[in-house]
Amino acid sequence: MDVCIVGGGIAGLTLAYCLSEKGNHVTIVEKSPSIRTEGYMIDFFGAGYDVVEKLGMIDDLRRIHYPIESLAFLKPNGSEKYRISYQSLRELLNQRHFNFMRGDLETVLYEKVREQATFRFGASPEQIEQDAEKAHVSLSDGTRLTCDLVVGADGMRSKVRALSCKEEQEPIRYMGYYTAAYIIEDPAFLEKIDKNFYTYSEPNRQVSVYPIRGNKVATFFLYRYPKQQGHVEKEKALEQLNEYFGHMNWIVQDLLEAGKEAKDFYFDEVSQVELPKWRNEKVTFVGDSCQCISLLAGQGASLAMAGAYTLAKSLEEYPDNLEAALADYERSLHPDIVKLQKSARRFASFFLPSSWWGILVRDGLTRVSVWPGVRKVVNFSTVRLPK
Ligand SMILES: Cc1cc2nc3c(=O)[nH]c(=O)nc-3n(C[C@H](O)[C@H](O)[C@H](O)COP(=O)(O)OP(=O)(O)OC[C@H]3O[C@@H](n4cnc5c(N)ncnc54)[C@H](O)[C@@H]3O)c2cc1C
Repeated sequence: MDVCIVGGGIAGLTLAYCLSEKGNHVTIVEKSPSIRTEGYMIDFFGAGYDVVEKLGMIDDLRRIHYPIESLAFLKPNGSEKYRISYQSLRELLNQRHFNFMRGDLETVLYEKVREQATFRFGASPEQIEQDAEKAHVSLSDGTRLTCDLVVGADGMRSKVRALSCKEEQEPIRYMGYYTAAYIIEDPAFLEKIDKNFYTYSEPNRQVSVYPIRGNKVATFFLYRYPKQQGHVEKEKALEQLNEYFGHMNWIVQDLLEAGKEAKDFYFDEVSQVELPKWRNEKVTFVGDSCQCISLLAGQGASLAMAGAYTLAKSLEEYPDNLEAALADYERSLHPDIVKLQKSARRFASFFLPSSWWGILVRDGLTRVSVWPGVRKVVNFSTVRLPK
């Protein structure tokens, strides 16, 4: 089967790996000039961990894993309020958990498929047409691909979705938050933190910082914002971060200042994608393009791998019937995703409280959740993989 996957992120690369292992011919169209290598720290657990095990990639993930010792929560002056060892958090997940940078996982996956799949970097789809036999994708570089299946693995603002589901309403649900993440290359910052993940929260805003390989430090900002803003240029994003975080003590001023120099500057709204139908004849979707549950649920990367694995299994199950395969894929996963999205929306205000009282409650419950007697009742929902 000839498959055109648009998007070389975690979902697209995982799907490419699963499909090319089974002898399919895969082309990946990726708008970036190369695979993205950095990004932000991912907590990885749940169904994605099971996929990694099934694909024999556990040792690869051990290699990129960060041995963060603890999560430390701070007071306004930067002194420690409390800390939780990462080891006790991992016990909540039966030790089935990794921490790594998003780019490290993408690099691992890319190395697995770069020989088997064809990569078209620096290109994006402009038009998708379908006839009785094939789908045809016209690319921004002027070329045209003909294939049996087109998969939109191009993230929350999927172009494939825009081109092939024109009559559908925009499926993005804004959750009321913005986030920024960037890497600081100045090694002096390492002296300010050690091997911990530090978080400071005030009502409606939270900033975290953690060490990464190469003597660098990574930041993660999250804040409540009343409305969607569309595309925001870096300069305006930094202004907004200053407005929301500029009054904070600890090392926040230095973090904001260093943001000006940051090359890999991520800034975006926090939203979900609620796509009512995941297929349109020879087009379907994987990962955030159809099932984004938002970073607040902490499982998007894991679910992206689970979605890709499930789609590959359905295509294997129905080799001569694309319609049945895509229906099977959607039936297997979509209902669980809807439930996870609902619980992510409930969890959001717990994760980022709007009052000091809410922060007190969140902190208390977070501390209690890792107590040995309580651990047993803490439950992380995920999706079921096909047998
Ligand atoms: C700050 C932050 C923290 C997060 N933390 C976690 C966490 O702890 N745990 C977790 O599991 N998840 C986390 N997530 C979510 C996770 O990163 C995503 O759910 C996951 O990366 C989705 O993968 P994807 O491949 O579906 O989409 P994406 O990662 O969005 O990849 C899409 C790919 O498609 C490409 N593309 C886009 N448009 C086009 C186009 N028009 N043409 C060609 N290519 C295109 C992009 O360049 C990209 O390579 C976090 C997200 C953020 C933002």
